[in-house]
Amino acid sequence: MVTNAPPDRLALGLDLGASHMAAALVDGAGTLQGWRQRPVDRALGPQAILGQATELLRNILAGFPERARSVVGVGLGLPGLVDRARNCLLFAPNLAWRDFPVGEWIAAALGLPVRSDNDVRLATLAEWLFGAGRGCSDLLGVWIGTGVGGGMVIGGRLFRGPGDSAGEIGHLTVAEDGPPCSCGSRGCLEAAVAGPALAAGGRALLLQAATGGFASPLGDLCGGDPGRATARLLAIAAARGDRGAREVLARAGRYLGIALAGYCNICNPERIVIGGGVAGAGEYLLEPARREIALRAMPVPRQMVRIVPSQLGGSAVVVGAGALVLGEY
Ligand SMILES: [Zn+2]
Repeated sequence: MVTNAPPDRLALGLDLGASHMAAALVDGAGTLQGWRQRPVDRALGPQAILGQATELLRNILAGFPERARSVVGVGLGLPGLVDRARNCLLFAPNLAWRDFPVGEWIAAALGLPVRSDNDVRLATLAEWLFGAGRGCSDLLGVWIGTGVGGGMVIGGRLFRGPGDSAGEIGHLTVAEDGPPCSCGSRGCLEAAVAGPALAAGGRALLLQAATGGFASPLGDLCGGDPGRATARLLAIAAARGDRGAREVLARAGRYLGIALAGYCNICNPERIVIGGGVAGAGEYLLEPARREIALRAMPVPRQMVRIVPSQLGGSAVVVGAGALVLGEY
């Protein structure tokens, strides 16, 4: 897949997340220049946070005075439901913003046109054009971090649905009586595999170990405090041979596989790209997911699909945000 953007045009791409923001200049080949990032303190509220984002983008432009005239617009990757026509963030649970005109703000501050979309959809676009999904016409992107987001490419087009809300695989039910989810339902994939669910699994493991009086690599990593368990420490403990940590990740991987098998049966994707912080657990998560797909998916989609890690990692949203400005997607 080659983007339809001429090589001399550039875009600013911004990834606005609930805990950090990142931005860079993006060209038609998905190459980044002038990467900058900073933490986000969500308690500051939208005006102050967008003031920081504007400063970040201005600093990038200031670093390339000779190329500023080639910058044709700003792409925004936003963490929630986006009204693309108004460039408005309708609902972002992790930022606690509702119906905020993010695009209008950035456009007025920088004097450049703005396009916006959901962050994971843009990460999926980036992987499709330049990363682990290159050459596919049917692709699912699943980003697992604090929450679980999804992006869909169907028949060579980014699929959004009539209300722009398609792709929310994180809210597919995988356990009828599972734990409550941030969306108001229960037993969603997100409630089983996202960072908070894995941290809870780690805590339970350590409390159990304390009762039994035995030590574990996870316990050492947490300094004996179950409250410090995170998905990242679980992955490190698993790599050090912690069987309990491996089982917590495998259980999450099985739920992931249940959801992905359902998607395979419905959409027959060629590839599923897994990204986000929790994806750092790698094969401890993906191998059980693949086994579950082998058990549950129909023969044709099961044999065609490949489950692969993200290639663009933490830069995927910025690349996708730039691509959104430079091409017609
Ligand atoms: Zn949910």
